[in-house]
Amino acid sequence: RVAPNNLEAFWMPFTANRQFKKAPRMFASAKDMYYKTVDGRTVLDGTAGLWCVNAGHCRPKITEAIRAQAGELDYAPAFQLGHPKAFELANRLVDLAPEGMGHVFYTNSGSESVDTALKIALAYHRANGQGERFRLIGRERAYHGINFGGTSVGGIVSNRKMFGTLLTGVDHIPHTHLPEKNAFTKGQPDHGADLADTLERIVALHDPSTVAAVIVEPVAGSTGVLIPPKGYLQRLREICDKHGILLIFDEVITGFGRIGAPFAAEYFGVTPDIMTTAKGLTNGVIPMGAVFVKDEIHDAFMNGPEHMIEFMHGYTYSGNPIASAAGLATLETYQDEGLLTRAKELSPYWEEQLHSLKDCPHVIDIRNLGLIGAIELEPIAGEPTKRAFSAFLKAYEDGLLIRTTGDIIALSPPLIISKAEIDELFDKLRKVLMSNI
Ligand code: PMP
Repeated sequence: RVAPNNLEAFWMPFTANRQFKKAPRMFASAKDMYYKTVDGRTVLDGTAGLWCVNAGHCRPKITEAIRAQAGELDYAPAFQLGHPKAFELANRLVDLAPEGMGHVFYTNSGSESVDTALKIALAYHRANGQGERFRLIGRERAYHGINFGGTSVGGIVSNRKMFGTLLTGVDHIPHTHLPEKNAFTKGQPDHGADLADTLERIVALHDPSTVAAVIVEPVAGSTGVLIPPKGYLQRLREICDKHGILLIFDEVITGFGRIGAPFAAEYFGVTPDIMTTAKGLTNGVIPMGAVFVKDEIHDAFMNGPEHMIEFMHGYTYSGNPIASAAGLATLETYQDEGLLTRAKELSPYWEEQLHSLKDCPHVIDIRNLGLIGAIELEPIAGEPTKRAFSAFLKAYEDGLLIRTTGDIIALSPPLIISKAEIDELFDKLRKVLMSNI
């Protein structure tokens, strides 16, 4: 028998978290905006789990849909066969997507959505007789999941360095953010859109007709909330169009209401060719992702020559019944409660409360959009990440869950948060920042 508190067998994701075994922090239950820890404390969820529990925790409609589906049709093979809920969900999803993105390809996570999107891009050019397009361009300080493709196009050097050569033919556009330039801008900065032109320079280094796709997070989340300057995404779209390059938006975080519209594409008025999603699609409850594509991309595979292998890609669990049921119940919850646009309504209040932390010690920048926020702290000399981690620990002790990345605190509460809970969140955070971190 293994003692329930034996922490040895489980090798946690991201082994950098070795610290966990020294001081385990575990949740036992959750409801709406709050977690309960195994030792009975209440913790306000300031991060929607990992940017995913957009409708709040343990929502009865979603829980019930999963329970019912598990008792009715638990699994159906994903290849050449199907079940109605996968189609029903696909139809609901494309109704929310930008005009002309009429098809989804199911995956089981954000990382799988990214690798699927990259493979669709490469295969699409081949299906179109443009097989020379093999280059993929990402952005510095981008996170695109942890599989081979996403790690390669991702812009976090430390995530790549352990693995030697991953995908070749990958470049990264310089990122858009410098705290001293951002200077506590509320919402989107006015300056910096010209940084998109660095894409033109990268493309010019190669034969542009060898570039298959550019992938960006419309708002980079996990690397510290980097808000695109006004006009930046529009400029990327123009450059991609000029060179016949596909534009991929990684909407794993921004999808499903996080910034006040169903997708960032709609919020920014820029339609990508391919869009990756996961997380909020099933309220983070059951793993599922979906890659949206423009109709002409879908049609290139489906209407190509009969002898062409259409798109040799897919997963055992793609669009499985339980995930599909969870997805449908999640979308219904979002729609019944107006959650896909609620971030827009709450954003002015959120912004005001967030920026009221401006004068706390060590705060060097604050950024926000929709219901996302970031507080950048001045690193302790020679000890990067220490200050933010100490803020994380203090907040947790004080009953608030925040996320830190480097010396940046990232916030992304469930979209059901009330104004009183926003006050609670920032009261707690102010206390943490005013303490000796
Ligand atoms: N893309 C983005 C933009 C993400 O933020 C994440 C996860 N934080 C992923 C991809 C990977 O998603 P997953 O962890 O579900 O594989």
